[in-house]
Amino acid sequence: MDAFKRNLEKLAELAIRVGLNLEKGQEVIATAPIEAVDFVRLLSQKAYEHGASLFTVLYSDNVISRQRLSLAPEEGLDRAPGWLYEGMAKAFREGAARLAVSGNDPKALEGLPPERIGRAQQAQSRAYKPALDAITEFVTNWTIVPFAHPGWARAVFPGLPEEEAVRRLWEAIFQATRADQEDPIAAWEAHNRALHEKVAYLNARRFHALHFKGPGTDLVVGLAEGHLWQGGATPTKKGLLCNPNLPTEEVFTAPHRERVEGVVRASRPLALGGTLVEGIFARFERGFAVEVRAEKGEEVLRRLLDTDEGARRLGEVALVPADNPIAKTGLVFFDTLFDENAASHIAFGQAYQENLEGRPSGEAFRKRGGNESLVHVDWMIGSEEMDVDGLYEDGTRVPLMRRGRWVV
Ligand code: ZN
Ligand code: ZN
Repeated sequence: MDAFKRNLEKLAELAIRVGLNLEKGQEVIATAPIEAVDFVRLLSQKAYEHGASLFTVLYSDNVISRQRLSLAPEEGLDRAPGWLYEGMAKAFREGAARLAVSGNDPKALEGLPPERIGRAQQAQSRAYKPALDAITEFVTNWTIVPFAHPGWARAVFPGLPEEEAVRRLWEAIFQATRADQEDPIAAWEAHNRALHEKVAYLNARRFHALHFKGPGTDLVVGLAEGHLWQGGATPTKKGLLCNPNLPTEEVFTAPHRERVEGVVRASRPLALGGTLVEGIFARFERGFAVEVRAEKGEEVLRRLLDTDEGARRLGEVALVPADNPIAKTGLVFFDTLFDENAASHIAFGQAYQENLEGRPSGEAFRKRGGNESLVHVDWMIGSEEMDVDGLYEDGTRVPLMRRGRWVV
């Protein structure tokens, strides 16, 4: 077997054993772009080898998405398959694992009318809510594993022939997910230990806020009351440890929905539903983004922010050192799973219950400062020019990062 095939096998193995930590007899519900069919078959083989009882896959198809967005009647764009997402939510609550194969053409929807894309996305977010809730509540084990989609490869390596671009992207994926290491499972155990140490440090300090300072950024992000830092392997409600993201480099927590002040500039482009949003700038007052601009793709971003009130508030703040394996590839991936893990980031929209002590819901969640929204969109603000301090309530500060690197 050549090195490429071996690494692909190791990645599939990682997704099932470390990402999902699949239990014997468990069902798996996979979602994937149709181009990933060979990789999905490898994943299903590994899943069955590790005791899966039933592997169900739902494929998405960019060609059909484009047909709909250009041909469907205006009112038709308000529809979404709610029945499907309710069924998925039911399956997750009854114990099915969720395996998402990510990687798509960031230009899949290029040239289509942004207001039609935005309208369809809003309906989609609304219908997907039951499934998203089950996922964010960790009622079951889930993971996202990357696939080198040809359209994605073209975006990352615009100068190369497609076949070579795909090969290079797989290599970057193997590097970022540690699938190219001798024993990736052991490498992930060590990586998880390091992330859990940072989490323990931050949770012991109980900072009131974080202060980000860099070019174009001077932002104070208040942290929710009883916030909890998380990172790496995460326990489900039933106590099973899964790794939701392959790769992952972040430690993250819940901001306070009403205590974010200042200005912030994106350090990397954001791929949003097939459109690239570049040069995001936001100004926050009392937690609300009163001003948001982007140099490119502003219309799609604006649509997303119009989803609901919580879409203009923060639901996540994450610290990622600038010297990690993803950043070291030197690539811009045009994909949130990679780019968010290459840099410190914040997210507009829904906060995670797991980031608040006791995982409160409803009124208790809001009272502690947890943000609610139908959307959750990470965007990258960290770089080798970013300093981060932890702030106590009395104003005392502790340096956490200098020039993008941990100093604790
Ligand atoms: Zn994150
Ligand atoms: Zn996020």
